[in-house]
Amino acid sequence: MLLSIVLPAYNEEQNISNTAEVLGELLAGESIEYELIFISDGSGDATFQEIQKAAEKDSRVKGAEFSRNFGKEAAIFAGLELTSGDAVVVMDCDLQHPPEVIPQMWKLWQNGAEVVEGIKESRGKESLAHKLSAGLFYRIMSRLIKMDMNASSDFKLLDRKVVDVLLRLPERNTFFRALSFWTGFRREYVSYEVRERQFGESKWSSLSLMKYAVTNATSFSTLPLQLVTVMGVLSILFSMVLFVQTLVRYLSGTAVEGFTTVILLILVIGGFLMLSLGIIGHYIARIYEEVKGRPKYIISRTIGDIRKNKNEERQRI
Ligand code: UDP
Ligand code: MG
Repeated sequence: MLLSIVLPAYNEEQNISNTAEVLGELLAGESIEYELIFISDGSGDATFQEIQKAAEKDSRVKGAEFSRNFGKEAAIFAGLELTSGDAVVVMDCDLQHPPEVIPQMWKLWQNGAEVVEGIKESRGKESLAHKLSAGLFYRIMSRLIKMDMNASSDFKLLDRKVVDVLLRLPERNTFFRALSFWTGFRREYVSYEVRERQFGESKWSSLSLMKYAVTNATSFSTLPLQLVTVMGVLSILFSMVLFVQTLVRYLSGTAVEGFTTVILLILVIGGFLMLSLGIIGHYIARIYEEVKGRPKYIISRTIGDIRKNKNEERQRI
């Protein structure tokens, strides 16, 4: 039984060798057969060279480099595609996801679990703004997709079956964390404490997090579109009240004033209209991206003997 570990890495030159060593020692100690698949997400530093060095030391370390930065989601999916294990663990390569949890996940998998979710016990050290916005994001997302997303993370173990299902999904805008919920299958949970990052710094800015939130919310739910209908209904109710008032005023001969109402109406309706157009526009953009059907990522180089046959199969089609 082979365990594949997928590690997305964006400018993580300081982390690679340490992570490869820590994981290697741990898994060898537990006598679990493994392969480590580092995906360098278009790093501008020596991440790829570091993966190469680690691979020279241990042939079970493999890797790939993207032609540019495609984002963590793409890196996770590329990693999944290149694995050949019977079970696959996805984790951050900064060791914020504690490796000691992996043997627990492995045991649960051996006992029949098909997905083992890592659940965050605490969010580790984060700024207050980050904590609040993440809290809000997860609250909204949980509502939108009707799954409890709080405390969920990208740290999980998937059975080969689940990996194959995820890889067959044709969509480009993926949200790994929610998709693995969506697939169903028998799941178990392990909780873990988020560690502090040892080297380097977080790759997420507030802006990139906001974009991530909007993209994921819209790729997983059409509720915002239905919001447009709600706004329309509200406008109509409001205008019915004003309609009656205006008519009564007109009939009673006191219809001269009313500029305030007109201005307010124009503002409110204009605001609703533009917001609605924005929401619809966002979905059209998503549809446009999906229709273009471009690949999620482009691999420029690989290290070690990784499962390439899947890619070749796809190219032939
Ligand atoms: N990452 C990536 N591509 C990106 C941004 C991040 O592959 O565009 C990787 C990063 O190298 C790390 C993981 O995603 O292994 C989590 O990123 P980070 O530690 O910066 O996020 P945080 O832990 O602060 O949420
Ligand atoms: Mg991190």
